[in-house]
Amino acid sequence: MIKPKEKIKKGQTMQYQLTVRFISLLVVAVVVLSTAITTMTIVSIYESTKDQTKLLLTSLRKSEATSEKEWQELLNTHIPNDNSPNFIRVVLESGEIVYSEEAQELYNEFPAFKQLIVTKRIVWDQLEPYYYKTIVVDRATISVLVELEDNFEIIGQIVSFTIILTLIVIILGGVLTYRFAEKISRSLNRMNREIMALSKNDSHQSWLTEPLRPIEVANISKSFNQLISAQRTSVKREKQFVIDASHELRTPLTAIRGHVNLIKRRGQEHPEVIPKSIDYLDKESKRMEVLVEQLLTVGRQERGSKLIDLSKLVDETIVEFQLVHPRRLVSKVEQGITLIGIQEQFYQIIRNLVENALKYSEEGEEVTVTLMSDKTTITLIVVDTGIGISNKDKSLVFDRFYRADQSRSSLIKGSGIGLSIVHTLVEQYEGAITISDNQPKGSIFKVTLPLT
Ligand code: ADP
Repeated sequence: MIKPKEKIKKGQTMQYQLTVRFISLLVVAVVVLSTAITTMTIVSIYESTKDQTKLLLTSLRKSEATSEKEWQELLNTHIPNDNSPNFIRVVLESGEIVYSEEAQELYNEFPAFKQLIVTKRIVWDQLEPYYYKTIVVDRATISVLVELEDNFEIIGQIVSFTIILTLIVIILGGVLTYRFAEKISRSLNRMNREIMALSKNDSHQSWLTEPLRPIEVANISKSFNQLISAQRTSVKREKQFVIDASHELRTPLTAIRGHVNLIKRRGQEHPEVIPKSIDYLDKESKRMEVLVEQLLTVGRQERGSKLIDLSKLVDETIVEFQLVHPRRLVSKVEQGITLIGIQEQFYQIIRNLVENALKYSEEGEEVTVTLMSDKTTITLIVVDTGIGISNKDKSLVFDRFYRADQSRSSLIKGSGIGLSIVHTLVEQYEGAITISDNQPKGSIFKVTLPLT
């Protein structure tokens, strides 16, 4: 994250990078395009000049002129005025030379002309380009120089037009891209500012604003808000947990300290109090041990997930309870049900439910444990015929340390933590737990877990 005072380097901003990249792309595209257009124009001008020259030479070759006079007349008819781009020289066998209009001066300078390396047909003098061709006919050598200046002017115009067009496109495109990129980064910058305010616990900022567009930023903001919400719930739960846990632990601790003080003060004079107090200390410390062990189960991470044979685990737990409560448990376990998770956590779920069912019913009453599955769900049902749970308490028994009035007033021992642990674990596996009344009496606990 960017610290408030840390300066953002302009060159690293998305806005700047996007603009630079777009302009570079544009320049490359326009340069390639204009080079292609210019090359094509040059080639087509060259080809058309070549064809025209060929035609001219063919017609001169076909003439039957032999003498200087005849050639001069011929040239005059072919090159009628001084606007023509063609300059012809005919060297006769006799050594006499005939020029078309204004051609002599040009041919006098011809030895100083430069030639293009790519094609020898293009020559130039003082930046004036010409197409050059010479042929030998019967008793004469004919040379033609075609002025290309006008054509090159067209090419020059095309080049300068493309340069101007490129500049316009770059300036316009640059400004538009810069604006567009600014629009995108504006929402990101605002998001950053809001996250800063959130991290500083600014009271004005409790959530990120979720813009409608761009969708990407809207999605990030939405996910971030969900994260904050989840974190807040978890922090709230943790706080409540610490308050509840310390409260629950304080009661036995105060009692333990009371008995320790009693032994200290009166132990020597009245040794008969010692065994009673030690008995109490033993019981209370055991209760604390169980409480702490249960609390730690929920805090454990999801490390060590593996494939568990749930049917086997339920069977084993039933056998474990049958040792202490013979003939009270009825098993209806479908075999071969497996799922991925932490064995110890599933053991906690089954054990807490079965233990409660036995605890909150009479000695002779049966508890039925059913495990079954269909294609999508695993269902665990624990049914007892015990004291039942009132409708008011059904929604509260999953709260940490909550005990229904009946069980508080009756002398059934418990800490009120078991069902809250079951609930947390079932939720952790994205399952659900419900309580309903058994007829004529008792409770039905139903856990459904999605098959993974
Ligand atoms: P504990 O049993 O240690 O009190 P639990 O969290 O396991 O704590 O249960 C919370 C409360 O829900 C119990 O105190 C009891 O009032 C009620 N309860 C749980 N299971 C049953 C049951 N099978 N029948 C009747 N009441 C139950």
